[in-house]
Order: sequence, then structure tokens, then C-alpha cells
Amino acid sequence: TATATAPVGSAATAPGGALDPGRLRNVAVIAHVDHGKTTLMDRLLRQCGADIPHERALDSIDLERERGITIASKVTSISWKDKELNMVDTPGHADFGGEVERVVGMVEGAVLVVDAGEGPLAQTKFVLAKALKYGLRPILLLNKVDKPAVTEERCNEVESLVFDLFANLGASEEQLDFPVLYASAKEGWASSIYTKSPPDVKDMSQLLNAIVGHVPPPSASLDAPFQMLVSMMEKDPYLGRVLTGRVTCGVVRVGDKVQGLKNTDNGTVKIEEGKVVKLMKKKGMRADPVDSAGAGDIVSLAGLSSPTIGHTVANAEVMTALPTVVLDPPTISMT
Ligand code: GDP
Repeated sequence: TATATAPVGSAATAPGGALDPGRLRNVAVIAHVDHGKTTLMDRLLRQCGADIPHERALDSIDLERERGITIASKVTSISWKDKELNMVDTPGHADFGGEVERVVGMVEGAVLVVDAGEGPLAQTKFVLAKALKYGLRPILLLNKVDKPAVTEERCNEVESLVFDLFANLGASEEQLDFPVLYASAKEGWASSIYTKSPPDVKDMSQLLNAIVGHVPPPSASLDAPFQMLVSMMEKDPYLGRVLTGRVTCGVVRVGDKVQGLKNTDNGTVKIEEGKVVKLMKKKGMRADPVDSAGAGDIVSLAGLSSPTIGHTVANAEVMTALPTVVLDPPTISMT
């Protein structure tokens, strides 16, 4: 096998191993305000056990919570069966400096949460347009089906409104072939067939299964020098800068020597050299330390104090920073 013949120090791991991109699913969550994104994420995390209080990697979280600031990141990882789902929040408001591009550039799929009573609204259209342009595979979640006004007819109506919206936004045939789920995030269930009352198993399994089945895993190479594009930045009083992004290629491990790179008009400039002191996966309000992260994964890294959003963190041998905004939408195949 590839693993048996891999040279010493190679990043290759057995399929299904911790670094196998095939077990990852990266998904953006898109919703108009009040359509239920927060309630949904809370349910997903609870189902996957992330609400159980654990030792926290970021001690500052409680402090931030007391002050009422949500540093709880916009990325949350959910372990589901043998898969790891990285769910990324998208801003619903007008874009600030490419924020939406950075988010949709990190993922292969999108869950579009739509209040079935209200239908798709303007606020999500902007984000959706970019998600489709970047080739993301969408899943439609019609939420709040528990509301008395929401009937099967209403759901059909909203479905065709969303279909028309997709078509107007230039969706591909593949994107137009989106699965639809019916949910009450408030009651804690999702179903792939229309129902007014919870299915037998009242949980989010059907949504999690739809994500795993419909969103392709990232295609990314582990056997390459480590590179990560920074998409989010937080400050932690103990760890300093915490940089979150998608590992474009290679593998990063705690203790690795890395550098921060940025693009300028005169080419790539090295802004800092340092060592990875901590790697974390965000799970709701919690941050779980991990030893390594591989290509295709979304991870938070501490150890450098200068890089910020749009910069690249990479192995010492990498000479060129990644493009700040991915200009060519990634091609996605289901194979
Ligand atoms: P967000 O702005 O998209 O994050 O929306 P929230 O999750 O904060 O939800 C907005 C409001 O809708 C809250 O009052 C929720 O309790 C309510 N809500 C969310 N999901 C459902 C649902 O499935 N059914 C009903 N009836 N209300 C819901």
C-alpha cells in the first residue's frame, strides 16, 4: 500500500487515518438572520456530544463569555460516525473585504437554512451567489416546519422559489440537484421527507447523513509542504494570536517550524518565523487540542504573532504565499 512504501517522514497515512482527507466534510452554513442558524448549530453540537463540559484549551473563553463577546469561533467541528464535519458560519451581511470569499473558499458544501414560513430572503442571496460561483454543493434545509402556517404545499412553494433563485444565480446542473430536508431546529430534528411531526428518531442524523453523502471530501495533497491560508484571527491572552484556516496542502504538527508569508506588489514577503505551539479544533465553545492537521482540514494554530487574515502560514521551504482570495472556483468532482 501507499503507506507501506511511503518514505520515512512522509505525510501519507492509511485511508481512514486521522489525516485522511476522505473522512472530512467542509460545509458553510448560510442563513438569513432569524431563520435558525444558531439553534441548528446548537442542536448539531449537542447531538455530537460537544456540549459536555471538558477541560478547555482556551481558558479565555469563560472570560470572553462573561464580557459578552463571542470569540467562540465561526468554525465548529462535529464528529459524526467516522467522519469529521467542519462547519463554517457565513456572515449574512454585506461583504467586508472578501470575508464571504474566504469562507466559501474553505469549503466544498453549503447548508442553506431557510425559514419555510418566510422563504428565501435578500440577506442570504448575496452569500449564496458566491457559494454557487465557487462551486459549492448546496443542501436546502427548510426550517421551522413545526410552525402552524408551514404546510407541505408551502414547503413545495419555497423549494421552487429556492430552485429559481439558484437558476438565476447561475447554478450548475449538479448544484440544482440539491437535496431538501425538513426540520425543526427548535424541536431538534430533521427529515429527508416532509413531515409535520418529528420522525421516529428525533435528531439531526438525517442532516448529518445528507452532508456526508452529498458534499464531496476535500481533494488535497498530504505529500506536499504545509501551507494554510489564514481565514480568521482571534487573540487569546495566553496563546496570543490564534490563526484559523484551511490547510491547503501538507501536514502541520505541534512543534513544527513555520513561517508567515504575505503577498505584496513585489511578490511574497516573509513576515515571521516561528514554531507551532498549539493546534486546535473548535467544537462549539470548546477548543480541543490536536497533535496534527492535514490537507483539507480546518484548524486553529498558535505560535506566530504577526500573520493575519489573508496571509499564509507555511513550512520553511515554501517560497510563495497563497492567493489571498481564490479567484478560480475550485472544480469539484464526486469521485
Ligand atoms: P439565527 O439568527 O439564524 O441564528 O436564528 P436563531 O437560531 O437565533 O433563531 C431565531 C428565532 O427562531 C429564535 O427565537 C428561535 O427559537 C426560533 N427558531 C429557530 N428554529 C426554529 C424552529 O425550527 N421552529 C420554530 N418555531 N422556531 C425556531
